[in-house]
Formats: sequence, C-alpha cells, structure tokens
Amino acid sequence: MLEKLGLKRVTLDLPFRLDHVNCFLAEGDEGWTVIDTGLHNEEPVKRWQDELNGKNVTDIIITHYHPDHFGYAGGLQKKQQARVSMSEIDYKAALNAWSEQFLDELSHNYKLAGIPDEEAGAMLANTKAFVPRVSPYPDVDEFLWDGDTITIGTYNYEVIATPGHSDGLVTFYNRENNMLLSTDHILPKITPNISYWFHGEPNPLARYLESLDKIKQLDADLVIPSHGNPFNGANDRIAEIKSHHDDRLEQTLASIDRGSTVYEVSQQLFKKRLTVHEMRFAVGETLAHLEYLRYKGECQRELNDGKYQYYV
Ligand SMILES: [Zn+2]
Repeated sequence: MLEKLGLKRVTLDLPFRLDHVNCFLAEGDEGWTVIDTGLHNEEPVKRWQDELNGKNVTDIIITHYHPDHFGYAGGLQKKQQARVSMSEIDYKAALNAWSEQFLDELSHNYKLAGIPDEEAGAMLANTKAFVPRVSPYPDVDEFLWDGDTITIGTYNYEVIATPGHSDGLVTFYNRENNMLLSTDHILPKITPNISYWFHGEPNPLARYLESLDKIKQLDADLVIPSHGNPFNGANDRIAEIKSHHDDRLEQTLASIDRGSTVYEVSQQLFKKRLTVHEMRFAVGETLAHLEYLRYKGECQRELNDGKYQYYV
C-alpha cells in the first residue's frame, strides 16, 4: 500500500521502551522528500547515509519538535542542502525546550510538582542529555500552516494542525486515497503521550481531544503512523483513544487525595518501575490530566509550601 502511494518507510531504532520511529521517503519531480529524521545519533546518521546514497534530497518535512522526529533535521539539512518545513509553533517550541533559560527553570517546576530532589535532578540531567541529540537546529525555510497544500512525492496533501501531542504537530491528509499520515496524533496499539512539559499550551489534553474530533470528520480509511504499522479505520481507533482518556481521567480524579502533588498522583497512576526518561513522561502525562480536570472545574489547585496540591 505504501508503495502505491510512492512512500518508503524508514524505521529507525530508538534507545527507549518505544523502540522505533517511522520516517518516510518520497520521490517527487525535483528530488526526494524526507519526512522526520530520528534522533541525532550515530545509528540514524549512518542509516540515512545508506538510504539517501545517490538521491537528491530537496525537502525535509518535520511533523513535530519531539527529539525522535526533529533531532537530526539540522544535521541532515547541512549534509543535503535541503529545505526544511515544519510548523512555526513547534519550531519555537524546539528553540525553547532545550534552551538554558528553560532548563534553569525546570528544577523549580519539578519542585512545584512535588518531585523529590534526587529524582528531579536525574530528570533534569535526562532532559539535558537530549541537547546533542537535537543539535544543530535546522534553518526552517517554510512554516507549515493548517489548510496548506503540500506535495509529498506525486500526491498532494492537506496540512492539518492537530495540537495535543505537541502544540504544533501537523498531520497530512491525502483526500484522493482517503489516507492520513497521522505522525503521533493517532497511533495503533499505544496511545499517544499527552503531556504538559512546563511550556506552551496549558491544557494539552483538551486540545488533543479537539484534534481527534477534527480528524474524525475526515473518516480516514488508511492511517500511516510514526510508531507501529499502518492500519485501516481512523475513527475506530479515535474512539478507543478517547475511551482510554475517559478511563485515565477517572483514575486521575480517584487518585487525588486531600492535597496531592503531581508526583503523588503520578505514583498512583504509574505503578510499574519507571526509568528516569519514563518518569518524565509519567509526570507530564499526570499533569496534563490533572490540569484538564482543573480547567473543567473537577478539582482545584493550591500553592502550599512551594508545591502545588490538588483537591477534589
Ligand atoms: Zn514520536
């Protein structure tokens, strides 16, 4: 099916529990387009060298700023002299997310979340370790906007802004084939991580659920995600993901004791042993669910002793 659409999947290994990311290649009139690049690590650099050997790369399209998609964009751009396109929102998010100023404030934010010092220190170090994995930054030649039409290979795609997993995440819809390049907005098997990362949109889960409804309107048949295999029936998967968040919101609400910190609620929600990297996601996801409930008026937050405490 991918072949018929002129897409080649390039799956790169990731050193996490989510152990791979799908990038894509397509040949157009002037040359090749690369969609997402993986981390700036030894293995992806080698892999791209092999995959792109003898190919003229004209364009690099980045779906969102997360390191497994954006990380090697700048490095590959330098090698290939290619144009880079991504959303302005996520380009700015990338500039901010690994900036010294943001990293300086992160310890304070971890304190507010009630994370013990030792764990907070490890989480900060884990965040900082990503800096070389996302450097150098690309020079973005074109910002992608909701409603734009772009060509990938020989097909036209509508750019659809679907904030949630990241504030500026864009998906690409080909109407002719009723096909969606869903990146991390809709995934099979695992549900996309919806986290508040202490920057940007304060209620990412609300935005995410709205974005699911936006994509639901398309009733897309084929979905090609950035993690896992292509599958049919976007709307069935959307229904499953929504019901997952309903359950998760219920569990979150039930985990709020009198004056629980974000950290304490995350300990209730994530029972298995987590790596430091996973702990960052657990805290981010817990915070996204807590804030969703707070904006809905189902819980309150108070600042006590330098920590936010949630009450029902
Ligand atoms: Zn991803």
